[in-house]
Amino acid sequence: MEGLMMGTQLLVSSLIRNAAANHPATEVVSRSVEGPIHRYGYADLERRARRLANALRELGVGPSERVGTLAWNTWRHVEIYYASSGSGAVCHTINPRLFAGQIAYIVNHGEDKVLFLDLTFVPLVEQLADRFETVEAYVIMTDEAHMPETSLPGALCYETLMASASEDFEWPSFDENTASTLCYSSGTTGNPKGVLYSHRSTVLHAMSAALPDVINVAATDTTMPVVPMFHVNAWGFPYFTAMMGAKLVLPGPLADGASIYQMLETERVTISAGVPTVWLGLLQYLQESGKTLSTVKRLVIGGSAVPRAMIEAFLTRHGVEVRHAWGMTEMSPLGTINSPTHGTGDETPEQFCDRQVKQGRVFFGVEMKIVDDDDNELPEDGVAFGMLKVRGPWVCRSYYRESGSDTHDDKGWFATGDVATIDPRRNMQVTDRSKDVIKSGGEWISSIELENIAVGHPEIAEAASIGVRHPRWDERPLLVAVRREGSELTREALLAYFDGKVARWWVPDDVVFVDELPHTATGKLLKMQLREEYKDHVLPTA
Ligand code: AMP
Repeated sequence: MEGLMMGTQLLVSSLIRNAAANHPATEVVSRSVEGPIHRYGYADLERRARRLANALRELGVGPSERVGTLAWNTWRHVEIYYASSGSGAVCHTINPRLFAGQIAYIVNHGEDKVLFLDLTFVPLVEQLADRFETVEAYVIMTDEAHMPETSLPGALCYETLMASASEDFEWPSFDENTASTLCYSSGTTGNPKGVLYSHRSTVLHAMSAALPDVINVAATDTTMPVVPMFHVNAWGFPYFTAMMGAKLVLPGPLADGASIYQMLETERVTISAGVPTVWLGLLQYLQESGKTLSTVKRLVIGGSAVPRAMIEAFLTRHGVEVRHAWGMTEMSPLGTINSPTHGTGDETPEQFCDRQVKQGRVFFGVEMKIVDDDDNELPEDGVAFGMLKVRGPWVCRSYYRESGSDTHDDKGWFATGDVATIDPRRNMQVTDRSKDVIKSGGEWISSIELENIAVGHPEIAEAASIGVRHPRWDERPLLVAVRREGSELTREALLAYFDGKVARWWVPDDVVFVDELPHTATGKLLKMQLREEYKDHVLPTA
């Protein structure tokens, strides 16, 4: 027997329709690429998204056709999010930090019909346009006054396009399993893989993300995603902020400490999110300027492991709660977050920081387990570590136009490629990417743990640890580290810092100091490149 409730479909357009109807004057504030601050209300945003939906139709974008974006976090990018998905097309966000060849691959693989780009990316797209096989129109996201000279064929101006389109558009209803958004994961090996979100997965992810134990967003909040809208939909912020009717602040192209601080303070932001590198920049700025944060309550940090020193600095110096989160492009992206339970009880600041070092627990909608090489489930004792597998309604079930991927098993579990422990309170901790584990004498050493300890040293800015060939132990850890400006820290002093923090046999065999470390387009350490660079490194113990 079927239930007798309405079959209202879960559609992305319902999020902005809700914000416009119930929070029309609540602001969306952006730092524009042109410079000035732009502000308007949700009702204006929704009206302009309808206008843009008509413009897309006039450009010949039909149902499920891909609309590419190369753009920062601004109101125009949010308009494209809603206009494309809401009208039944697919919003395809492209990470401009990828190598040029990968961008060309992604645009062609995604078969983008129209490409929207910020002024910043005009030179990049000019260089690549010859290699794009499907793009029929380029729209530069600016007004007439700022339109650049460009070689892009028939380049259109966003505001001119908008001015000529009608606002008269009714958001269509269709099956909630229709694709809404496409985003390529920037793997460290091979070609990027496309993850194709649906309207249903996007709305369910947004509903869960806003919950108290996840990001905890209310209509009274002001959120600012520093995580880019080209990286897994800015972790869902443009969706769940509209869903809750909270104020949305978008930092545009500037993510340095001073610019972030200015937006946080002048717009009275209460919740923000981004990768550790961004917050390192902010902490440095705060320390140098002697300023403090006056409105921020909570920072959601993820994308790579959050150092304990960062959690402690925000809590003790600024009274800000860090919530450590873990996720993936394949997971929309939220998978786990570290928030308290009845079991955690009253915590001292020390205990809070100890707990927050872990990536946290799953919330309703996500299931997780760890398995060994034969797919046997491992104990959740906080010690055993193995491949982390997940499943749920916002986890991808396969990649876009990709066959033969070995990431999914027949019970529907997705192998994340992360190696993790799960403790008895179900807090998960990532110990490695499966390819990054160091195997010494047949035993695993967590490279992430070594890196966390190294960056806990006050004179170390960043560190990576990799396995290097060893005649006796097969592999031994090498630490590649960047010293803070002015530091003359020695190899011996840094190695001594590991004493008592890990088992003796985990302590790296050698340290190499470098000026900077290689990163992927999303700011993760490029261990592959380091392994290649140091493959012939002779350890003093060898
Ligand atoms: P991406 O799809 O680019 O967001 O990358 C996902 C990967 O980033 C995960 O599989 C992890 O390896 C890593 N990652 C994400 N969040 C964290 C975190 N909090 N700690 C450690 N690694 C993380």
